[in-house]
Amino acid sequence: MLLLKNLKQTQLQRCWQPLARFASGQRKFDYDLVVLGGGSGGLACAKEAVEYGARVLCFDYVTPTPAGTKWGVGGTCVNVGCIPKKLMHQASLLGEAVHEAVAYGWNVNDRDIKPNWQKLVKSVQNHIKSVNWVTRVDLRDKQVEYVNSLGYFVDAHTIEYKTKQGATKQLTAQNVVVAVGGRPRYPDIPGAKELGITSDDIFSYEKDPGQTLVVGAGYVGLECACFLKGLGYEPTVMVRSIVLRGFDRQMSELLAAMMTERGIKFLHTTIPTAVERLPNGRLLVNFTNTSNQTKGSEVYDTVLWAIGRKGLIDDLNLAAAGVQTRNDKIIVDGTEATSVPHIYAVGDIIYGRPELTPVAILAGRLLARRLFAGSKQLMDYRDVATTVFTPLEYSCVGMSEEQAIETLGPENVEVFHGYYKPTEFFIPQKSVRHCYLKAVAEVGGEQKILGLHYMGPVAGEVIQGFAAALKSGLTVNTLLNTVGIHPTTAEEFTRLSITKRSGRDPTPASCCS
Ligand code: FAD
Ligand code: NDP
Repeated sequence: MLLLKNLKQTQLQRCWQPLARFASGQRKFDYDLVVLGGGSGGLACAKEAVEYGARVLCFDYVTPTPAGTKWGVGGTCVNVGCIPKKLMHQASLLGEAVHEAVAYGWNVNDRDIKPNWQKLVKSVQNHIKSVNWVTRVDLRDKQVEYVNSLGYFVDAHTIEYKTKQGATKQLTAQNVVVAVGGRPRYPDIPGAKELGITSDDIFSYEKDPGQTLVVGAGYVGLECACFLKGLGYEPTVMVRSIVLRGFDRQMSELLAAMMTERGIKFLHTTIPTAVERLPNGRLLVNFTNTSNQTKGSEVYDTVLWAIGRKGLIDDLNLAAAGVQTRNDKIIVDGTEATSVPHIYAVGDIIYGRPELTPVAILAGRLLARRLFAGSKQLMDYRDVATTVFTPLEYSCVGMSEEQAIETLGPENVEVFHGYYKPTEFFIPQKSVRHCYLKAVAEVGGEQKILGLHYMGPVAGEVIQGFAAALKSGLTVNTLLNTVGIHPTTAEEFTRLSITKRSGRDPTPASCCS
């Protein structure tokens, strides 16, 4: 019965768009929806829209990097972002695990272990190619038309593109979703583009990266530096101002301290001024320390720019459509509509929203449902959980301590915190110095939890479930009355008893009391 009901509902939803089209008279446009950009947000939106009977076409085109790197359909996450990054993160954690295995009694030789960079890159790229292939098959099966070209506006309803044969074609769309994402920035200094690479190149880089200068201390810089270190290379991170701007300061400093303990070098308050190639092929980087104006230089094998990303608006000819922008991004309202009502934007290209894959995907899906299935549900950009994939990962959801204090005032914020000792760290005697977590809560009322922060193993897996709880109105009382799963590190959230205000020592005495 339930199956029948669901079936009927699905069939009804599939009829929605053709019926609406019929009711509104003749077909005025070639497509109900054209999506510019086949990455996380664009593909999610396109695939959802066809579920409701919409005629959908999706453009995806990758302009090669200055170093010549290019990739297939699927956007940043699949090709040069989350997926290859997570695989390299895993590769680096496995190197650490080999040493731990010896302490656990495995009869393996952990001396002088070295990764084979080329083999790792090949494995990662093979996986990506299989995802590209599955994506194309999926689009074909779902009947989303896919065009591997750069699309741009001629007017608010007309998109132009060049075919592989070089012919110029135009098509019209009732609705357009711009989901073109962004690409890494390069600093405006001599040698930057010619000699440096970015995250767009590193995951398919044929050469051993060797001693690497990573410029930038955001997500990309820290994650790349960490997997390179774990793989045995010697990264240095150049920090312009502070590490992980926008995150909880205590957690960010703890993360930097954890990286330093693992041997990653930091050049603080430093900016690069030029890069040149030496006769021996290595790269000489000149830089300035901005706090004391001293100049310096150092030689590296690879320079990786991780200084943020630029929205890909330049090729879109947005002026022809009348779409308003700010700082290389598109301005949208709460319905993801741009300044032109039938043109929408989702994902990284939106001004002032988190640049994360699940954000792009959910926003894309919800938009398709509103456009073609009569839904009213809006994307909620608040309390989005996120993880920095460093060897001890840092994951968080909700407010930082600073944000809570700024919003409510210091007297209205209670911070519960504690260090902890993961059971599995004891035998290999791993450092527990940076295993720390905190819950930022309201002082009064039901002590609603405003933010959760965790640094330790598999932080992303730990915080994901707590993110749902926080969105459901989690309170301190509920958290502390939740029975933990022992022995896990996630259970530490249920054991938080010390407030910062109390001044008590947050270091644990034992694991099980
Ligand atoms: P994209 O995925 O960038 O897709 C846009 C697509 O449109 C691209 O293929 C682009 O080439 C194409 N395009 C551009 N202009 C045009 C045009 N005019 N016509 C046709 N096609 C066009 N997020 C996470 O949640 N977790 C992570 O662990 C994570 N790790 C990351 C690691 C790195 C190194 C990077 C760089 C990013 C990471 N991100 C992560 C962020 C995540 O990748 C992005 O938020 C996400 O990919 C954004 O999706 P999107 O659809 O907005 O854009
Ligand atoms: P960010 O904007 O997060 O960080 C850029 C870094 O580069 C900052 O430290 C910034 O310093 C520095 N910087 C900027 N300009 C210069 C310059 N001219 N010279 C030297 N340093 C400079 O960008 P990322 O590229 O790291 O990440 C982009 C986005 O991708 C993130 O916001 C995130 O949403 C997404 N992402 C998500 C990941 C995840 O979920 N795990 C992983 C990777 C990326 P300053 O603070 O002084 O401005």
